[in-house]
Amino acid sequence: MMSKQQRIAVVGAGLGGAAAAGLLQKAGFTVDLYEQSPVFSRLGAGIHMGPNVLKIFRRLGIEQPLEQMASHPDFWFSRDAESGDYLSRIELGAFARKEYGAAYVTVHRGDLQALQMAALQPGSVHFGKCLSKIEDRGDDVVLNFADGTSATADIVIGADGINSRIREHLLGVEAPTYSGWVAHRALIRGEKLAKYNLSFEDCVKWWSADRHLMVYYTTQKRDEYYYVSGVPHPAWDFQGSFIDSSREEMYETFAGYHPIVQALIESSEQVTKWPLLNRKPLPLWSEGRMVLLGDACHPMKPHMAQGAAMAIEDAAMLARCLQETGLTDYRTAFQLYEANRKERASRVQAVSNANTFLRTQEDPAWVYGYDLYAQALKSENAA
Ligand code: FAD
Repeated sequence: MMSKQQRIAVVGAGLGGAAAAGLLQKAGFTVDLYEQSPVFSRLGAGIHMGPNVLKIFRRLGIEQPLEQMASHPDFWFSRDAESGDYLSRIELGAFARKEYGAAYVTVHRGDLQALQMAALQPGSVHFGKCLSKIEDRGDDVVLNFADGTSATADIVIGADGINSRIREHLLGVEAPTYSGWVAHRALIRGEKLAKYNLSFEDCVKWWSADRHLMVYYTTQKRDEYYYVSGVPHPAWDFQGSFIDSSREEMYETFAGYHPIVQALIESSEQVTKWPLLNRKPLPLWSEGRMVLLGDACHPMKPHMAQGAAMAIEDAAMLARCLQETGLTDYRTAFQLYEANRKERASRVQAVSNANTFLRTQEDPAWVYGYDLYAQALKSENAA
């Protein structure tokens, strides 16, 4: 008798979910990707992608097109917000290629996501599918969507972000915690900067005692510059995932910051303000036929620029473990996955939350030099 075809469902087409679907398809699995948004849109703003991720994108076949669209900083500079003194000069560029095995780039998140989505098998992405209910029936999993449709799968990967419906199913309703920090974000048209006799560096983080502003280009052409802040903010009592901010609020928040920062504020057409949310480490990463990755599993403050990188590394490790065991032995694969991800993801989460990374001269090789495919798999009992 022919057995029915085994299927994997991935819920959430963010950077983590798209990576999981792509890598699993490349490995020969049948994968459906379900996304609540009705259509693809160029969401988000800037994002860093380090060599640790580009080595994974090499397997997905999108390293080259990403390199072509992205900005290639030669350094990550950390500078004192008032004096402009350099606190650290972290070498990237050709050094990163040689030492860490791939390029370090900064890019628009939406452009990167479009590349990832284009690498998926035609017909495997289903938009407008908001997961509302999920049931593990022992032999398979039923996914019910808000539009009244349903699907079944052998295993389900929850890549549905910080408010994960699948996390909620496994662990109960619990809102993420507000970290006490917000991020202001703005995209600036490159042409707006031409009038200043100032040097706008490719990748620079301006630091003062309790806040910072991270700034970089999102395109190779340098026609889009981006900043994202980290600022203490006592409470978040607004509705929704972000609210409008303003140039006035930015001037006030960054009073005394270097003239380059003042020029950026002056050039901002629209500024938004986002709460930075967190969760305590989860007591489990999988149960039965369901497994979590990325922000669904270990959200973090974004100050190390590695949150999406951890989601993509999770995706790659999960795909590797499923390849190792086969889909039928998904239980072993899930245990292996957790055993081989928890330590690194938790370390990055802790350093990112502490906001110390690259503030002073340090060696980032443990982050950027990591080659997921070169790691010997630890046994599942190590979890
Ligand atoms: P998400 O990107 O949140 O994707 C989840 C997806 O699931 C979404 O598409 C959502 O629509 C979908 N979804 C949710 N619920 C459902 C449902 N019920 N049914 C169907 N679909 C659903 N990381 C970096 O690596 N580098 C950076 O430079 C960086 N900068 C950042 C700056 C800021 C201000 C912030 C807030 C974060 C930053 N991060 C960065 C972190 C990064 O954005 C996240 O860690 C990353 O997006 C997590 O990816 P994910 O795929 O796990 O989840």
